[in-house]
Amino acid sequence: MTREDYADLLVPNVKYDRAYYEEKYPERNLDEKAIVTRYAPSPTGFIHIGALLQAFISSKMANQSNGIFFLRIEDTDQKRSIEDGVKLIIEDLSKFDINFDEGVTIDGEKGIYGPYTQSERADIYKAYIKDLIVKDLAYPCFCTEEENNEAREMQAAKKDRIGYYGRYAKCRRLHMEDVIEKVNNGEKFVVRLKSPGDFDKKYTFKDEIKGKMEFPENDQDVIILKSDGLPTYHFAHAIDDHLMHTTHVIRGDEWLSSVPIHTQLFRVLDFKVPKYAHISPLMKEDNGTRRKISKRKDPEAAVSYYHKEGIPNEAVRLYLETVANSNFEIWMNQNKDKDVSEFVLDFKKMPVGGTMFDYDKLINISKNYISKLKADEVYEFSLKHAKEYDEELYDLLTKYKDYSINVFNIEREQKKPRKDIACFSDVKNQVWYMFDELYNPENYEWQSITDKEEIKNVLDTYLNEYYNIEDDKDAWFNHMKEAAMKLGYAGDMKAYKENPEDYKGSIADFSTIVRVALTSKSMTPDLFEIMKLLGKDRMQKRVEMALQ
Ligand code: GLU
Repeated sequence: MTREDYADLLVPNVKYDRAYYEEKYPERNLDEKAIVTRYAPSPTGFIHIGALLQAFISSKMANQSNGIFFLRIEDTDQKRSIEDGVKLIIEDLSKFDINFDEGVTIDGEKGIYGPYTQSERADIYKAYIKDLIVKDLAYPCFCTEEENNEAREMQAAKKDRIGYYGRYAKCRRLHMEDVIEKVNNGEKFVVRLKSPGDFDKKYTFKDEIKGKMEFPENDQDVIILKSDGLPTYHFAHAIDDHLMHTTHVIRGDEWLSSVPIHTQLFRVLDFKVPKYAHISPLMKEDNGTRRKISKRKDPEAAVSYYHKEGIPNEAVRLYLETVANSNFEIWMNQNKDKDVSEFVLDFKKMPVGGTMFDYDKLINISKNYISKLKADEVYEFSLKHAKEYDEELYDLLTKYKDYSINVFNIEREQKKPRKDIACFSDVKNQVWYMFDELYNPENYEWQSITDKEEIKNVLDTYLNEYYNIEDDKDAWFNHMKEAAMKLGYAGDMKAYKENPEDYKGSIADFSTIVRVALTSKSMTPDLFEIMKLLGKDRMQKRVEMALQ
């Protein structure tokens, strides 16, 4: 039997040979510096904040170099796939402005280097597996799971390295005739790479982020084709990244130790080895120790969490920029008038070790971002969030659109805008007292003011005799001052501080009475604007409520 026939027996029905695919997927016609990279998730539908960071970095590196960013779905492990997984991934990423030039789309795919879903590429993989078998660079392995387990136990007992390599690679030594007999008997098998590596030798490579790395050479005869006819991830990614002309493999650093296997595959397959950039994980402090942020333990690991909290996607993106490059914040401070998209990401400025995930910082960025929005933008964001998460608020915002925008406009669109809204799930908490439907105070923050008669007196005098809704801010303040002085309060803080015993209190105490009576809160944004929006009737009702 020729090797060709032998390979045919092991991998039957291979339609085209490798030369066919090499021609079918020609080099990309791009600038020399252009980065071609991919996001290659399993379709589990879940996007981890670490994966978002990775997709963000990859997309930006490709965009800023006029390269290509594509989506490849890695579903060779069919157990991990879920029905709508791909759709959820695409939708979630696009919310963060991460879009693909090429690859799988919601209703198909785009680009000439497809199919972009690994389970649809079985024929392609087989062509290359067959080629390796013909060249005696790969071989079938009939070891059962039990045999492999036994071998591992034995290795462990002997304190030897675990795995299928060297003298433990039993099936490597099978004769062709034995293989043929086994196959004809219907025995199941996998295909393994005949690793040319030597564990005692060092393998060094340069990671774009981490710099020079050194590992032992790979000598494991890794599985490249499983018994279900699908390749393993290792093999599939090598074929795909070669045929799709990936220049940079950008991914999480849990893959770092696989590089010796991966580059070995590229070499055995006679492919150009891509550049590798391994992104450090986001870490969390847990009981004094640092660990990777985890899907199981941390709700904020899921990107959906940010939608639920109502943290604007732009704020999350800004946060990702700060994590991605250590010089981003400095750049931002020096380039206040520039758009963030002008910032150029650099592998060399990416953290080489784990980065602490700083939720407070993210919230702070979010707060600043929201503070710079216009009132109608805050309204739209709030409405959108409420529509999904808070029906009551949604109804109010819809019913009182203009009024709500005015509420959001208090102390906004000015040099030092209000910063009370950190995320859109916060909105109700910050504005509830401006809506009668929500105004049902549990307690009034009167603080040291306890004399009910006095409170009544202040409100009656001020609202009936001095308050005029037509007043501008200066007039409003002067009127409040006059009312305060008439009732024995100091009209300015200086006078009060000099002789406190001469007064019932200061203008601040006076305005606190008014504020608490109208809102139940001792701290609010600008009282003048609040009063204007409430109007006389509603204020009157609130005073009655407060006095009860
Ligand atoms: N499918 C792999 C994953 O789920 C991708 C690894 C890579 O980007 O090479 O992490």
